[in-house]
Amino acid sequence: MPLRMRKCQHLQSLVVIDPVEHVCRKCMEMGDTWVHLRVCQTCGEVNCCDSSKNRHATRHFRETHHPVVASAEPGEDWVYCYEDEVIRPKAVLGNGKF
Ligand SMILES: [Zn+2]
Ligand SMILES: [Zn+2]
Ligand SMILES: [Zn+2]
Repeated sequence: MPLRMRKCQHLQSLVVIDPVEHVCRKCMEMGDTWVHLRVCQTCGEVNCCDSSKNRHATRHFRETHHPVVASAEPGEDWVYCYEDEVIRPKAVLGNGKF
């Protein structure tokens, strides 16, 4: 994903929600597998990424308009806003460096 320097109000006030589980429930129910997991930062739902067959994180955004997801992958520390197409490392959140 490209790093763009756009403004995002959603990320400015974000308090990161960590994943409660490391599965995509929708994929599990369908008997499908996924590649990476994303955590909705509005409701905490864990969904699969765009490299996965079912792209549940993007679908969740389209259905609910919850704008921000965080990566649930170990070693990945970014958050992404679908609405503004802004990606940021978690480390810069909350310190006004937007
Ligand atoms: Zn935003
Ligand atoms: Zn899924
Ligand atoms: Zn959500």
